[in-house]
Amino acid sequence: MGTLRIDQLVKSFTAPNSVNEVVAVDNLDITVEEGEFLVLLGPSGCGKSTTLRCIAGLETLTSGSIRLDETDITGNSPQQRDMAMVFQDFALYPHMTAAENMSFGLKMTTDLSEKDRMDRVNEATSIMDIEGILDKKPAQVSGGQKQRIALGRAIVRDPEVFLMDEPLSNLDAKLRAQMRTEIQRLHRQLGVTTIYVTHDQTEAMTMSDRIAVLNNGELQQIGTPDYVYHHPTNQFVAGFLGEPSMNFLEVQLSETDDQYVLTADDATTTFAYPIDETIVQECDLAIGQRLTVGVRPEDISVTDDEGTNNHSQTAMLDVVEPMGSDNFLYLLVGQESWTARVDEDVELTEGEQVTYLFEESDLHLFADDGTTLKS
Ligand code: ATP
Repeated sequence: MGTLRIDQLVKSFTAPNSVNEVVAVDNLDITVEEGEFLVLLGPSGCGKSTTLRCIAGLETLTSGSIRLDETDITGNSPQQRDMAMVFQDFALYPHMTAAENMSFGLKMTTDLSEKDRMDRVNEATSIMDIEGILDKKPAQVSGGQKQRIALGRAIVRDPEVFLMDEPLSNLDAKLRAQMRTEIQRLHRQLGVTTIYVTHDQTEAMTMSDRIAVLNNGELQQIGTPDYVYHHPTNQFVAGFLGEPSMNFLEVQLSETDDQYVLTADDATTTFAYPIDETIVQECDLAIGQRLTVGVRPEDISVTDDEGTNNHSQTAMLDVVEPMGSDNFLYLLVGQESWTARVDEDVELTEGEQVTYLFEESDLHLFADDGTTLKS
């Protein structure tokens, strides 16, 4: 129970006094499996919240359908859907205590007896560890406690699906990290199908079974965090996942002395990276073809063995940013500023030329239209 199927979902809005239509969600197909924790991830305005609101029944679909356990629920009201939603701003009733906030929805939407309602509230209270604040009103508790009450309220509904819209974004960094693990524990304990919206990739990477990356209302890729991180389907996904983000450089394929080389277009750049013939064949590359190189910051190392590895490159070290356990180096590679994440014991001076290296196996290549050729 709890399999959610979204078929060809389109949602467009027309702003008041305007003829222009905004397509917020564009032909989205996603199946969320029973008990799965799916994260909808993407930049601001990509259509995450609209998708969630369509699933919740808070928006009317322009076209497409939504099915829960094979039942078409597209036309159902929010109350008729077996789902509970948790919002970014907690959405608690200010004049009610925590206990009343949790039981109120049950009172309005079910015919459970008072005793059964209290049993459910007590169970949710114990799961969320909020016994001590049951008689407090929202204004009397902290942000983290408010979100615990809001999660408790979702739990008492005992729904088939939890819908969570950036539930942690109003909390400070430490509380966010704490609540992240709380929600993971909750999911393990209850096993309820969960769809979780965020633009925070740490939440997406750490909490989800699968991530669905959206951009401009379109699904870019869906897969396990590990797969999407290591095998992004296009340059957008590659650049969106990872902190610091992947480095990019526009290059061209050339051939000199029987060696294929990726060189930067720009006359000021010294980037020339030899690649094996197998890459040229597997990616079906042509001499002169324009491509984009991608390299993750953690895959770059700074070396002093200049010249011994034909993959090594040189660049000016612009800034060193100490991060505690490691350093972020900002390297000027052509017109781009590349970030390298290296051990903090590497001694370097800003303004000097450094030699850096990344392995061919860590090289990502993207075609002109952004499609991944090699990851
Ligand atoms: P954020 O992370 O900023 O909340 P999001 O990915 O959740 O962004 P949505 O809120 O779903 O994005 O918005 C998607 C697009 O639809 C945006 O261009 C937004 O301006 C537009 N949009 C959303 N709701 C409405 C509305 N009620 N009327 C008009 N346009 C809307």
